[in-house]
Amino acid sequence: MIGGNIPTHLPEREVMSDVVELSNFIAGQWQPPQCQHWIENFSPATGEHIANIPCSSSEDIDLAVEAALDAAEQWSQFSINERADWLEKIADELEQRTDEIAQLESLDTGKPITLARNVDAARSVANFRFFANQGREFESEIFEMSDATNRVLYKPVGVAGLITPWNLPLYLLSWKVAPALLMGNTIVAKPSEMTPMTASLLAEVIEDVGLPRGVFNLVHGNGLDAGAPLTAHPDINLISFTGGTATGREVAKSASSGFKKLSLELGGKNATIIREDVDIESMMPGIVRASFLNQGQVCLCGSRILIHESIYDVFVEAFLNAVNDMIVGDPADDETELGALISAAHRDKVMSYIDLAEEEGGDILCGGGPPVGIPDAFANGFWISPTVIDGLTPDSRCATEEIFGPVVTLHPFSDDGEAIEIANMTDYGLAGSIWTQDVDAGSRMAEQIESGMVWVNCWLHRDLRVPFGGVKHSGVGREGGRWSLSFFSEAVNICVKRE
Ligand code: NAP
Repeated sequence: MIGGNIPTHLPEREVMSDVVELSNFIAGQWQPPQCQHWIENFSPATGEHIANIPCSSSEDIDLAVEAALDAAEQWSQFSINERADWLEKIADELEQRTDEIAQLESLDTGKPITLARNVDAARSVANFRFFANQGREFESEIFEMSDATNRVLYKPVGVAGLITPWNLPLYLLSWKVAPALLMGNTIVAKPSEMTPMTASLLAEVIEDVGLPRGVFNLVHGNGLDAGAPLTAHPDINLISFTGGTATGREVAKSASSGFKKLSLELGGKNATIIREDVDIESMMPGIVRASFLNQGQVCLCGSRILIHESIYDVFVEAFLNAVNDMIVGDPADDETELGALISAAHRDKVMSYIDLAEEEGGDILCGGGPPVGIPDAFANGFWISPTVIDGLTPDSRCATEEIFGPVVTLHPFSDDGEAIEIANMTDYGLAGSIWTQDVDAGSRMAEQIESGMVWVNCWLHRDLRVPFGGVKHSGVGREGGRWSLSFFSEAVNICVKRE
């Protein structure tokens, strides 16, 4: 029974008959919400109530921002090398707790344990180590003139508000926390109310390594009661937000009047382009992974597969065989490839798109509902088996709106130009992939795709030094490598005339 995996040993959490109670972490203290209201958190795989989390409000945000402001002066006095050492300590401590992170993430999100271990836990450690190294290699820039020297300083922005979604909880939180700390900012973080567990674990790690109080503050709660007051708070100087495009629009409105520094990593509707010369057999595992990793709940997933018409039937048959071979089931099982969706509401939203696809004239080639033969223990969980839909026009709603679940639509194209036209037929512009034996042709096509990232013959192959972000309605700004260092700092030029 999956619910038996609930951790009971974490010191700051009170365990009440198998339900974990989480607290906020403000000024180095574990605190209940001021209003004493709580939100129930459920296991996506079983539907069981697994945790109560603070339903924080503006009062808790005010306390957290005050703590972050109080800590700002001291934290900014550390050199970048000293702050890099703190990141390394956090990475070491997280690494020690890899199995626990994987278990909590799998329990909280319904994702397979192997994915939680190999991707979520591993990347969270890697994010801290990567930015620690970036800090050690960081050099201030000098621009000489004939009679003067310009020196560029990178100062902290101030208090950073970090808001993260539920699909990659610690992975995305650590992607923001590490560079924000490195560049000397203090933090108020608000993770998704649906996946609070590993954010609390990170706060425990930060307490254990002895980071000065108030440098990192964690406020649990929902978007309207805790997220909105955070983005609107006058003493928040920077907001890094990852989530849906509609929420991003609200965050942008809220941040703009205070001229806060803003990074928005938003939704996607990414195309996977299969050229006629593709080696179907060798590329198929990568294409299936791009379609369904994390139950299709990765912003970068290729949810539209565009296939050259000359290989359409052969490709679809091979794709369906590979999809039908995927193991959907108990997230705690090492063999499992696909788990549950995040919530009942999200499952219902995804199902409504499958219904819409039928109304729009699509054929459901596989999936379309809960997996057949799911064990009783998971009967109340939030499941949809991998779903493949054919016969929709590329401009249909199902082919242009973000579904964010285990659903892909298939579309034929006649030449590269048409593939590019279809790929660009959405308001989104986050990512894409092209699969071909002609890497020059693939690279040329990649340049014409309107998105922030395109992979050729791979997908989610990440070098943390490269820019990450979207165009059109998929976001504003870039994070990753030096782009993160630049976003989480204020570049200040000092020009000294020599004579
Ligand atoms: P979401 O509903 O937009 O929520 C994201 C975060 O914003 C959550 O912490 C949410 O809190 C909070 N929030 C909600 N309303 C808010 C408001 N008015 N002010 C401030 N914060 C608010 O997104 P989601 O459903 O969690 O995540 C899925 C979406 O994220 C998808 O669209 C996916 O494509 C996108 N995503 C993008 C990237 C990227 O890098 N581009 C990466 C991952 C995911 P509560 O959940 O507690 O309400």
